[in-house]
Amino acid sequence: MKIYEKLRNELKKRHLRITSQREAVLSIFLENQGEHLTADEVYEKLSHKNSHISKATIYRTVDLLKEMGFLSKVNFGDGMERYEVKEPNSHQHHHLICTKCGRIYEIKEDLLEELEKLIEEKTGFKIVDHQLNFYGICPRCQALSEEKESKKKAIQHSIK
Ligand SMILES: [Zn+2]
Ligand SMILES: [Zn+2]
Ligand SMILES: [Zn+2]
Repeated sequence: MKIYEKLRNELKKRHLRITSQREAVLSIFLENQGEHLTADEVYEKLSHKNSHISKATIYRTVDLLKEMGFLSKVNFGDGMERYEVKEPNSHQHHHLICTKCGRIYEIKEDLLEELEKLIEEKTGFKIVDHQLNFYGICPRCQALSEEKESKKKAIQHSIK
């Protein structure tokens, strides 16, 4: 796989050792694309695979992978440091967070280029990235609460 070659090259460039642990941590993110994992979750997933890497090593590796541009950190305001695979051309999606179940959805459209341009003109900033989170109730939770409502109504009817 090409990405592991890239990883080896980046490690060499920094005079860091190419370890199977570093590849294993990256592999967890590649196997769970679309998820936003904390270092602890990476630890759990690795131990399910009987790969016993210490938490400290995982924390350091995740940080290193971020520094090298393989991962990006995402912040959903829940106090957790989460990471996801960074695809080339930096960011390509935004996040929708359900305030009921906490599930995170991704939205691929990005309509913010115009806004970035406007902000650059107004502030003189050279914008290189942005993060945007939408908070709301996901379709699943909406359907669940509708179901509950209609059950409640049905019960009320039968009481009358
Ligand atoms: Zn939900
Ligand atoms: Zn994401
Ligand atoms: Zn965007």
